[in-house]
Amino acid sequence: MIKKQELTELTKEELASELQNLGEKPFRAKQLWQWIYYRGITDFNLMSNLSLALRQKLIDNYTITRPKVITEQISVDKTHKWLLEFADGERVEMVYIPEKDRGAVCISTQVGCAMGCKFCHTGSQHFTRNLTTGEIVGQFMVARDAYKEWPSPTDETRYLSNIVVMGMGEPLNNLDNVVRALNILTDSEGISISRRRITMSTSGIAPKIVEALQRTGVRLAVSLHAPNNAIRSKIMPINDKFKIEDVMKACAEYQQGDHSRYITFEYLLLKGINDSQENAKELIKLLKKYKLRALFNLIPFNPWPNCIFEPSERKTVEAFSKTLEEAGFAAPIRVARGQDILAACGQLKSKMPKA
Ligand code: SAH
Ligand code: SF4
Repeated sequence: MIKKQELTELTKEELASELQNLGEKPFRAKQLWQWIYYRGITDFNLMSNLSLALRQKLIDNYTITRPKVITEQISVDKTHKWLLEFADGERVEMVYIPEKDRGAVCISTQVGCAMGCKFCHTGSQHFTRNLTTGEIVGQFMVARDAYKEWPSPTDETRYLSNIVVMGMGEPLNNLDNVVRALNILTDSEGISISRRRITMSTSGIAPKIVEALQRTGVRLAVSLHAPNNAIRSKIMPINDKFKIEDVMKACAEYQQGDHSRYITFEYLLLKGINDSQENAKELIKLLKKYKLRALFNLIPFNPWPNCIFEPSERKTVEAFSKTLEEAGFAAPIRVARGQDILAACGQLKSKMPKA
């Protein structure tokens, strides 16, 4: 039996050429696209404006599948975490973080992660494989199914308003699939999430930063976590390959000539490691040196089983924030969400250690 082609793996152009190969006119591709990405329909039989003959051809040759939901947990603060499984049995976690009248879906780009940041639960799982285009898009579709956010004539409210590419994995190391997936997710005839509402976080793959932003047009967040190479290398092995200076230069290049481009620097506070006033001052100097328009997102450390770090004291975090703010940088302290179900930053993991 020939394996059927999964349609969510295809870009709009590729879908159009598939239909052309079936002898269909271009507008049929548009109709099919809208069924999949505007209505969220997975059953070809429900695609009422396609001829019966075309529906049969589609049934015979194609599939539209969602990642399988293995478990779901909802935190006391309403953060929602899913463990999802793909066709080959590999799994990732996805999180929805609701705010009052909006919310962000945090999607994964890899099974595990090769970066091995010492403070990150995902990093302790090692890398298995990249996610495909359809697997990345499929995560958001699962969230839309769960919250019934496919368009309805009576309710156009969007609680799943933002996407953060901050789940498991390093997105810049799976850039082709991430670009394809973001093109699908932002397409105005489908899911239509604005690129301004998408933030992609990288651990600092310096040579790919400019390319990634040129190809996606989304917002950039960089996991900085240290003011100098000595500290950063201790907690993020990737820093041995791409130094802070490489990352800063890439950020400066990205901002050149475009004043609307702001960068968020994520800064995780680890007790006694990177949270002193001296560290804060060094950080300010670093950003000023490269003349970056940036804000900080201070992340209190979220512990996970057997981790070696401790969160900084609340007053230390507040003092760190104050010093950055006095130097002119916004530096809000991120409120941890979903900690009780291990859904907060850096707590995701889809495989348990082998006994
Ligand atoms: N892999 C990407 C995006 C996913 S992680 C990256 O590293 O940028 C999202 C953010 O959570 C990153 O800034 C990451 O460094 C941070 N993080 C990792 N482990 C954490 C933990 N235990 N507590 C709090 N934040 C953590
Ligand atoms: Fe990977 Fe990001 Fe975790 Fe580092 S923090 S191990 S890059 S997921």
